[in-house]
Order: sequence, then C-alpha cells, then structure tokens
Amino acid sequence: MTPMNKESDLSVDGLMRHLNASVSPAHSVEYSATRLREAGLIETSLARLNEGLPAAGFIADAGLLLAWRLPQQKVRQFRIVGAHTDSPCLKVKPLPDSGSFNWKQIGVEVYGGILNNSWLDRDLGLAGRVVLTDGTVKNVRVDQAIARIPQLAIHLDREVNDRGLVLDRQVHLAPIWGLGQYQPGEFAEFIAEQISSSVNDISFWDIALFDLTPASLLGHDQSLLTSGRLDNQVSCWAATEGLIAASASEQSFNTASVIALFDHEEVGSESTHGASGPRLAWLLEALHGSTRTEFHEALSRSHCISADNAHAIHPNYPDRHEPAHRPTPNLGPVLKVNANQRYATSAESAAVFLQTCDRAGVPHQVFVSKNSMPCGTTIGPITSTQLGIPTVDVGVAQLSMHSARELCGAKDPAMLAKVIAQYFAV
Ligand code: ZN
Repeated sequence: MTPMNKESDLSVDGLMRHLNASVSPAHSVEYSATRLREAGLIETSLARLNEGLPAAGFIADAGLLLAWRLPQQKVRQFRIVGAHTDSPCLKVKPLPDSGSFNWKQIGVEVYGGILNNSWLDRDLGLAGRVVLTDGTVKNVRVDQAIARIPQLAIHLDREVNDRGLVLDRQVHLAPIWGLGQYQPGEFAEFIAEQISSSVNDISFWDIALFDLTPASLLGHDQSLLTSGRLDNQVSCWAATEGLIAASASEQSFNTASVIALFDHEEVGSESTHGASGPRLAWLLEALHGSTRTEFHEALSRSHCISADNAHAIHPNYPDRHEPAHRPTPNLGPVLKVNANQRYATSAESAAVFLQTCDRAGVPHQVFVSKNSMPCGTTIGPITSTQLGIPTVDVGVAQLSMHSARELCGAKDPAMLAKVIAQYFAV
C-alpha cells in the first residue's frame, strides 16, 4: 500500500466538500488549486513556461487545471491522469431576459447531453465566470434558489405517464426567476450586484445554472453517494488527492507525475481548454525541457490514465448491459474496454492499470458495452491520439449519468484515488 502524504484527504467528507464547491468548471479548478496550494505545490502560468517550472506546481487556467511533480533527475517519462471538469448543464444566454404572462424568465442554452427531465422542479442557483471591461475575471456563485423549470401539472398533461415526457429544449426548459414585466438588462444588473460591480463594468459572462441540493450519503447503510456532477468531479477529486498523496520522495528518479483536468469534454473537447487543445502538450514539453526528439522518446515511454465515470448495472434495466460485464458500486474502479477504440484502453495500457490496482490493494471491475448499444467516449482516445501516449480508460461506476443528480458508491472514489496515488509512486 502507498503511504499517504499527510496533506491528502481521501475521506468521503472531503469528496463531498469538493463536490459542493465544484458548481462550475472554474469553481472545480479553484477548489483543486486550493488543495494543491495547501499541499505545497506552487502556482505558475502557461505565460511563464520559459521562466523555469517549480518541481511541484500547478496551472489554474479557467476550467483547465494542470499540475505536476517532477522527479529528482531528468524526466525520461510521464505518468498522466486526465479527467474533465465540465458537466452537462444549462448555460445562461448572452441576452437572457425574457418572459411572458407576467412571468420573468432566463434564456438558457443546453450544454452537453443533459437528461432534460432531471432539471425540472429543482431549485437552481447560478455559477460561472464574469469578465470585466478591465480584463479581470471573477468567479460568481449565487447559492440561493433563484430559478426553477416547472413541470406541467399532470391535470394539464394527462397522458404523460403513458406517452413519456417530451420536452422541447428551446420552449420547455426556460427557467422562471420572478414575476412582473421583464426588463432587458435585468439579469446583468443582478450579476453586477453579486460581484459588487457596476453593470457597465461587465464585459461578458460564462454562467450556468446548478442544482442547489448538496452532496449526500444515501441508503439505509449509507453505502451510496448522491450529488450533481459526479461525472466527472469524482475523477477530478481522485486525481487531485492522488497527486497530493504521492509525495515527491516516493517517485522514481525520472518519472514526472502529471494531472490534466480539461474543460469541454461534454461537447467534444475541441477547444483551447479541452483535451484536443494544445495546452497539456505545451506543459509536457516545458517539463521535459530537452530536444524535440528526446521529448518524443519520453512520450513513447509514458502512460496515461483517462479517468471518467462508468455505467453501473441498473437493477431496473439489466438488459441494457453486457451480461458478463456488469460493474457494481463499491467493488472498485472500472476498467473500460471498447474494441472500436471509443475507449483508449489497449492490452498493454490495461495491464499497467491492473498491476497498479494490485499494488494498491484495490479491487477492479471491467466494463464492455453490449454490441447492440452504442458506446460513449472520453478524453482517453483524444489524449492518446494527440500525444501518442498509451492510455487506459477507467472510472467509478455510477447510475443516472448526465442527470442533474447522479448516484455512485460511497467507497469507490477513494479506491480510485488510492490507485492514482500508487500509479504516481512508481
Ligand atoms: Zn464524463
């Protein structure tokens, strides 16, 4: 077993603090950055890559977090854990003020593959980033119930339970947030108040709604964990705490440990801050600090874990799962395999992960989709294609993926964090 660094916190309470703090990608990065700072890692930025990087450092860049521990000697290989900070949600439109019949509403744009119905009848807060006219950026978080998407009453929709609920994303997902005649600019005024600025100081925003219900243990035996954004905050937390846990002294002489928590996975990863963007490659090249050819040699010797949640067997829909591969909560992290490379896992990259689980004393499970069921994908195939690094896809088993409220085992996240700590301690 890996001796845990005293600063790391693998308790479920620690995970719930992370979940409650991570109400947007920027808030997730802010919280992980605080944890890394507490553990002694030093903050720098991509704009200072040429100034020499700290031996243990991090870069917090909006919804992207990059962090590392360098070995004592020259970097000959990397061990990387990738995850994503974003979750499907409803983002506030640039001109959101709207309404009718004396209801005030906020225009929202669907971000990623939400389960539409899961956003109905929830008390919603607001979180994200505001860019001011002087170029400064402020995180904003409104922790009050200020909006709600009300479902139509059964009396006005008698067949809904037989026909299924069909929601038009433009028409039926507009939240209400007050009464009276709406005024253009009202939402901007509200946000300006929240950040103690004037509306004229706001240049633009990236703000989304989030469910105010905090993370909670669930079940008569408290064996389950329920929260928004388990996909993929569980992996962001495990990567961050795993890196903290693996102190520099435990590392081999020439392996650099890196975590990369990307934004925009839920919308295809093609952005500056997504896994298809170049920022991780820039960092790795700077951490390596040698010739291009030697850098490529180091990449070829490296290994990456792409951590993203997996589908647990659903007791009410067992037919949706491959009969021999049915992950169950609290039986350990799931190795995700897809012959068509929707997951990046190969026989070699899987073997590294399985050996690491064994050394950490953590059990594992294996997931494969049914042939008749299309398989989702992750940042794994993207990072392996971009960097040429053998990658394994793994994750914690959960139910209700992409619901506003998801469910997983209470013990699996800490098991994943232990495996990551062990992975970095090689
Ligand atoms: Zn995910």
